[in-house]
Amino acid sequence: MTLKKTPLNKDKLDQIVTDARRNQELREQSYRGQALKLYPWVCGRCAREFDHKTLTELTVHHKDHNHDNNPSDGSNWELLCLYCHDNEHSKYEEMRFDTRKAKASSTMTTHSPFANLKSMLDNKK
Ligand SMILES: [Zn+2]
Ligand SMILES: [Zn+2]
Repeated sequence: MTLKKTPLNKDKLDQIVTDARRNQELREQSYRGQALKLYPWVCGRCAREFDHKTLTELTVHHKDHNHDNNPSDGSNWELLCLYCHDNEHSKYEEMRFDTRKAKASSTMTTHSPFANLKSMLDNKK
């Protein structure tokens, strides 16, 4: 009797994760590309200007915070620099989770404006 070793499902799972990530990246690249064609490369909050060298710091914000809402006329997009984008999201979170935030901030003494930067880059919010 031979024991046939079944291949681990992990590889398959990794593949699914990779595919999903790639799809998300493609989708992001496409709306980002469109937004960058539609709008001047200027942050909508602090008016900082961008060129090809600094363009990685210019991000596409979704006005209604719904990343799946990508009308081709760009009406749901706003170009924001990383910092203003981060601010925009913390404002939104504050609005949404006002009570929770109040509780959390009492234990948090310092707030770094860059605290969310890494997760933001990872999630590409
Ligand atoms: Zn800005
Ligand atoms: Zn955003």
